[in-house]
Amino acid sequence: MKNLMIAFVLLCTLGTMNSVLAQDTNKREITNVAGDLYRFQNNFHFSVFLVTEEGVLVTDPVNSEAAIWLRDEIKSRFNKPIKYLVYSHHHADHVSGGEVFKQAGATVIAHENALWALESDSVPTAMPDLTFKENMTLYLGGRTVDLQYLGRNHSDNSIVVLFPDEQALFAVDFVNVRRLPYRDIGRSFFPDYFDSYERLAALEFTTVIPGHGPIGSKQEALDHGQYLGELHDQVKAGKAAGHSVDELKASIKMENYKNWSQYDEWLGLNIEGMYGYLE
Ligand SMILES: [Zn+2]
Repeated sequence: MKNLMIAFVLLCTLGTMNSVLAQDTNKREITNVAGDLYRFQNNFHFSVFLVTEEGVLVTDPVNSEAAIWLRDEIKSRFNKPIKYLVYSHHHADHVSGGEVFKQAGATVIAHENALWALESDSVPTAMPDLTFKENMTLYLGGRTVDLQYLGRNHSDNSIVVLFPDEQALFAVDFVNVRRLPYRDIGRSFFPDYFDSYERLAALEFTTVIPGHGPIGSKQEALDHGQYLGELHDQVKAGKAAGHSVDELKASIKMENYKNWSQYDEWLGLNIEGMYGYLE
């Protein structure tokens, strides 16, 4: 009897461990943001979708497997057709797998610069059916969705998706909430980058939903721009004073942001990236 009990406890423990491991290595989840707007998580990537009477608008599919999972979940939970697929920007880790929604009947929309970028990077996804330059308004099931181009920042084709009824904005990779910009800030466009936060400030929303990390307030979205501006000024001043990139990595602390996630991991890389841009 005692042996049986031990075996049972052991089995339960192993079962729990397995499910925790499965969640950590492959986390897929749908959560409600507000009203009919939902957030989709696939491990470290997030997108959003809006459910209306007439159908569903989805954004970044992340990859084919994730898109198939999301398509099936939307079907079983809401039983509405997927009408639109909107790409935040052309990077493969966000917009691979678009063919899943296109085959389901969705019209694919992106910024016009994404056409060339998707092709030249050979991103495994569906090409856009519709593109725009400055902004585009979609009407679906009595709901309005505004797509806005804020200029070049993290890419030359990053757009934001505004959901006026939910006062929510989907913004990917050029906005994080209390989290440093990714590693060396990538192939970004400075100084245009800074202008996009001014345009962001002019939009009406209260909640920002990034492509990575937690949801936040409009102010927290703007704080990200503030961080980049301060980083730029400090690196520029240090460089003008004749300091090397290694000296600046040792001296620039960005103290106001030490509680942000990835501070220890990415501050040095952020400084390197900004230094490289200023070269
Ligand atoms: Zn990106």
